[in-house]
Amino acid sequence: MAQNIKLEVVTPEKAVVNEDAKIVVAPGDQGEFGVLPGHTTFLTTLKTGTIRYTDAGDQERFVFVSGGFAEALPDKVTVLAESAERRRDIDIARAKAALERAEKRLAEQHQKESRDFTRAKAALERALQRLRLAELK
Ligand code: ATP
Repeated sequence: MAQNIKLEVVTPEKAVVNEDAKIVVAPGDQGEFGVLPGHTTFLTTLKTGTIRYTDAGDQERFVFVSGGFAEALPDKVTVLAESAERRRDIDIARAKAALERAEKRLAEQHQKESRDFTRAKAALERALQRLRLAELK
């Protein structure tokens, strides 16, 4: 059995991660799941949140992800996402500004079923998750 799993996280704009990992933990829509080498094959959508993994040098790494799905194979995890960035690349001021904009839009929206409301809620969730991750000590 392989010692490591190849982890790839890509968005339409960039390749965010492409490296070996010992374990990958990701925020699946049905709950958080972990992948070790030799894991059964499966496919799932992801919630907005954090992927964490242990790299080949035993460092724990964190990646924000939104709008994605993951494919797990026995020796590889591929994540395709609308947006993703490593924790160190999160711009806290930008996320705070996005949070404020989203809160303002939500306060102005009266129709909770409207498309704008849904979009503002998703933007709020992205900003909150980015801040949560970036400010994790
Ligand atoms: P914003 O309104 O600030 O663009 P957003 O949540 O709408 O925030 P996304 O659509 O998730 O942004 O991402 C668009 C691009 O900008 C992606 O490449 C994403 O990695 C990057 N990005 C968004 N917010 C941040 C941030 N706070 N720090 C670093 N990169 C970010």
